[in-house]
Amino acid sequence: ARFSEATAQQAAKAVEGAVRIGANECWTGPFPVAAEAAMKRVTEGNWYEPTNEHATLLNAVASVEGVPVDRILAWPGSSDPLSRVPVTFASPTRGIVTADPTYEAIWRTGAWIGAKVTKAPLKPDFSHDVKAMLAADPNAGVYYVCSPNNPTGTMTPLADIQWLADNKPKDAILLVDEAYIHWYDGPNAASLAAARDDVIVLRTFSKLFGMAGMRLGLTIASPALTDKMMRYDGGQVTGMLPMTAVACGMVSVTQADLIRARRAEMTANRNETVDWLNKKGVKALPGSHANMFMVDWGKPAKDMQAAIMAENVQIGRSWPIWPNVSRVTVGSATDMVAFRNAVAKVLKL
Ligand code: PLP
Repeated sequence: ARFSEATAQQAAKAVEGAVRIGANECWTGPFPVAAEAAMKRVTEGNWYEPTNEHATLLNAVASVEGVPVDRILAWPGSSDPLSRVPVTFASPTRGIVTADPTYEAIWRTGAWIGAKVTKAPLKPDFSHDVKAMLAADPNAGVYYVCSPNNPTGTMTPLADIQWLADNKPKDAILLVDEAYIHWYDGPNAASLAAARDDVIVLRTFSKLFGMAGMRLGLTIASPALTDKMMRYDGGQVTGMLPMTAVACGMVSVTQADLIRARRAEMTANRNETVDWLNKKGVKALPGSHANMFMVDWGKPAKDMQAAIMAENVQIGRSWPIWPNVSRVTVGSATDMVAFRNAVAKVLKL
C-alpha cells in the first residue's frame, strides 16, 4: 500500500509480455519528433545544461498556456511538487482535504507529517463536492482537487474550483492536479494559478506525452509559493532536471496537432470499450475525460483484477470506498481488444 502506482508498475513489469493497462501510463512513447530531440541530448549528457534548455521549456509552456513565465517551474515529474505542497502548507494544526476516491499520494504525505486528512465523497456525477470539502474542514491548510480525477477521469467544473478558491481560508492553498487535463478541451485552472497567489496547478508529461519513465512535471503558481516549496534545497534539486526530458517536453508541448490526434485516438478506444461493457451488462462508470475509466463488477475488484491478470491483462486497482470498482487504463486498440476478450472469458459473456 505504500507506493501503489509504483507497485502497479512493478506488477506489470513482473509479467513479461502482459498487456499493461494498470498504471495510467501511455501505451506508446513520446511523439517521435520529441524523442528525437531527447536523443540528441544524450550525447551532451556531460553538461548539467548544454545550453539554455530549461528557460526554453518554461517559455514554450508559458506561451502555450498563456501564463507569465515566472509562474512556471519544471520538476522531475509532478509527484515531487505534489508531496512538497502538503509538507510546506499543511501541518498538525492545518489539515488536508481531498475527494474520495481520488489520487491518494497526498494522503500518505499527510499521514507522515501528522496533518489530518479529511475526505469528502465525490458527487453523484463524480465531480468534486467542493462545498462538502470546505464544510468538512473549514480551516485546512491544503485543499486538493484532481481534475480530471484519478481514478474516475471526471472533471470538476472550473466554476466549482473557483468557488473553493474564493471561499477557503485566505492563507490556505488550493492545489489543482491536472495530470490528465490534455484529454479535456474545456477551460482549465491555469488561469486561476496565473492570477492568484493561493492556487497551485500541477501538470505532468507522464500521461498523454508518454514520458512517465523520463520524469518531467510542471507547477503553475506564484513564485512566492514555489520559493517556499524549495526552502530545503534552495532550488538546487528542482533546477537539476534530466535534459533529455526537458528537450522532449519542450518539443512535445508545441505539437498541437499530434496532441489532438493522440487524444482523439485514446478517447475513441475508451468509448468503444465503455460502450461494449455497458452493452454486455457490465457497469462502466460514465463521464471520464482521461485515459482511464472505472468498472463496477458488483463483486470484489481485487478478485476480478487477479482473474483478468491470469488472462495476461494487468488492470488497475480499486479504492477502499468502492471495493467492487476497478480502474482500467486506456491502451492501444489492440490492448483494449485483449481487455474485452479477458473480461468476456472471466465473466463468461
Ligand atoms: N497526479 C496524478 C493525478 C496522477 O495520477 C499521477 C500519476 O499517476 C501523478 C500525479 C504523478 O505522476 P508523475 O510523478 O509521473 O508526474
